[in-house]
Amino acid sequence: MVNIAIAGFQHETNCFSLIQTTLEDFMQADCWPAYTKGDAILSTFNQMNIPISGFIEEAKNQKFNLEPLLWCSALPSGKVEQATFDHISAQIISKLKQCKNIDGVYLDLHGAMVTSEMDDPEGVLLSRVRWIVGPDTPIVASLDLHANVTPQMLKAANMLISYRTYPHVDMAETGKRAAKALKQLFKKPNNYKQKAIRQVPFKIALPFQSTMQNPAKDIYERLEIIEEKYSINLSLNLGFPLADNASCYPTLVGFGKNANKLNKIMDQFAEEITLKKQEFKGKLWSIDEAIQHAMNQKIPPGKPIIFADTQDNPGGGGSGDVMEIVKSLAKHNAKNAIAAIICDPDAAYLAHNTPLGKSFKTKIGGKTSVANQSPLEGEFTVKSIGKGEFTGTGPFYKGCPINLGPMALLSIKGTDVEIIVSSKKMQAADRAIFNHLNVSPAQRSIVCLKSSVHFRADFQSMASDILVVAAPGVNYAKQI
Ligand SMILES: [Zn+2]
Repeated sequence: MVNIAIAGFQHETNCFSLIQTTLEDFMQADCWPAYTKGDAILSTFNQMNIPISGFIEEAKNQKFNLEPLLWCSALPSGKVEQATFDHISAQIISKLKQCKNIDGVYLDLHGAMVTSEMDDPEGVLLSRVRWIVGPDTPIVASLDLHANVTPQMLKAANMLISYRTYPHVDMAETGKRAAKALKQLFKKPNNYKQKAIRQVPFKIALPFQSTMQNPAKDIYERLEIIEEKYSINLSLNLGFPLADNASCYPTLVGFGKNANKLNKIMDQFAEEITLKKQEFKGKLWSIDEAIQHAMNQKIPPGKPIIFADTQDNPGGGGSGDVMEIVKSLAKHNAKNAIAAIICDPDAAYLAHNTPLGKSFKTKIGGKTSVANQSPLEGEFTVKSIGKGEFTGTGPFYKGCPINLGPMALLSIKGTDVEIIVSSKKMQAADRAIFNHLNVSPAQRSIVCLKSSVHFRADFQSMASDILVVAAPGVNYAKQI
């Protein structure tokens, strides 16, 4: 048996967000588990779509003895406080130092973290781990498809393995691939000794990176064909432009036996992707244009039109409380419309203190970091309430225990528009959010979701059309 130290430290940093990410954000449970350390990691992550879950599962097949250090994540938001990064990475390093006879290391990282003082903290963490374990112990890290991979990360790790789907329905699968890759590094270290990285010279806006659509769908199919044909290991990261630094471009990362052959393949594939630049452009609808378009359609029963409120997507660092689409739906007198999720703990509290079917007056949303935003002021009727504790059921959040605090389904008095409010942020990418409040999104005509792409995993099949709508927010969907 070989001894493998495992740890996770995940954050996707949106440098346009003014909300700094603190230690408390990494400690608490949200859509993913809270800060977990030691052997508790082995039981906590059972059957979840999270990379470390897949790694732990595959480790049994590979006969790895695991030494779990710690795992934590925080929702995408502004820069991570330097002291928070220093504290968590010091914990990982000190726990690693305490392990005896470590044969390999697996890290579950995102790859697009930025701290108040570092553009490439994951590169720093990987280098520190390398310093501890020495040059001959394999280090494998799994990365998000939105990783902004740097030469420092590549230098420190033996292999980097990224998700291949957006929505990320293969996070656990990526963890399994990382475990298999680690095994290959023990068996045939020379087969993946050569490393190469190529940066694609344009940024891709998040809503148009989906691998459920072209050109990304075709590109990832090509990646698997090339990998198989040449017996190399490849990862394509479409990048997280909102990290807003020199590394936030798509990258192609490869590992193989022969440097010349690997470099040639990488050059050709990077060129192939670069030639598809124009195909990554998509339509961004203005709010009024989208609502007028939807209201002019004959929407079939059970097949709503979905608005992706991408720029206020909390999954990309948005505040989750921008009300502009909701206000416009009400103003245009849209019928049978619903919007999720508005993060407003005060409104959720008021709803929980108002009898079902009764109304209360307040101001909802528009309270956090987006400039020039105002709340929606009005009277709201409580249609249902929930504790905000439920389990993800869609392909993306599958099995994850979700804790959003008090939640409510409210209707805006005098309109046919409903909103779902919560006490904590979450992107609206799972039908369980609606089921928790006994509401069926398929029975609505317009469903507005604060999500960029992940919602497609659970909602695309019910949509008669999907419009990417550019409401205000810090998750800029700037066109290339
Ligand atoms: Zn991602």
